[in-house]
Formats: sequence, C-alpha cells, structure tokens
Amino acid sequence: MTNAIQRTELRTFYYTPVHCPFCGTRVMGADPVDETLITACPHTLFIAHDTAFEYRSERFDRNLDLHGLSDQEVEERWRGEAGGVDGFTNQVTLADAIKVAAYAPEPSPYGSYYGFAPTE
Ligand SMILES: [Zn+2]
Repeated sequence: MTNAIQRTELRTFYYTPVHCPFCGTRVMGADPVDETLITACPHTLFIAHDTAFEYRSERFDRNLDLHGLSDQEVEERWRGEAGGVDGFTNQVTLADAIKVAAYAPEPSPYGSYYGFAPTE
C-alpha cells in the first residue's frame, strides 16, 4: 500500500505564516522586507500556488518522477491533472508526508500548497 500524503486545509490568507511541522522553520513570510520570499528547510518537499511551483525539492522530483524535466515540462505535467497543482501534489507517496493547503478568503479560490516530509 502506498502512503498518500496527509492533507490539511486552512481557510486563511495567502501569506499565512506556515511553519515546517518537523523543525519549525517558517517557510513563507519570514522575511519582513519581502513577504513573498520562501525559506525552504530540509523537510520542505514543495511550495506551490495554483499558478506555479515556487520550490521543488530533489525528493519531490524523484517521488513524482520529475527528475531532469524542465520547469515547462513539469508545468505540462501538472496542468494535465484534473486537480491542477493541488491534485498533482496529492500524488506524493513519501512516508509521513504532510501537505498544507491554504486558501484565500472567498470569493477567491486561490490556493497555496506546502509539502513536508521527515528526512530519511
Ligand atoms: Zn523542517
């Protein structure tokens, strides 16, 4: 049996202070000057929005067989999924992987997705 990533959904703002559940690193919004900067820790698998990936780790690329693909080829992969980036990142099978999906308030359906997994 494959381990599906555990998904947690938050109805919160885009720049929510998401922290890694394994080491506590604040991966988004940690920089007071530029809140859009990301700070990936060793557990971060991916950071994405509905429109693009901002960060993909080696482990994520290996797990979803993206290794060696260009950013454009990766985009073609997830755009071909029914659920877009959200559905695509649900396919992660790394052990104990956790995903946080944070959505902007209604009526905007805009989502941000953060994936984490313990290091091996
Ligand atoms: Zn971490």
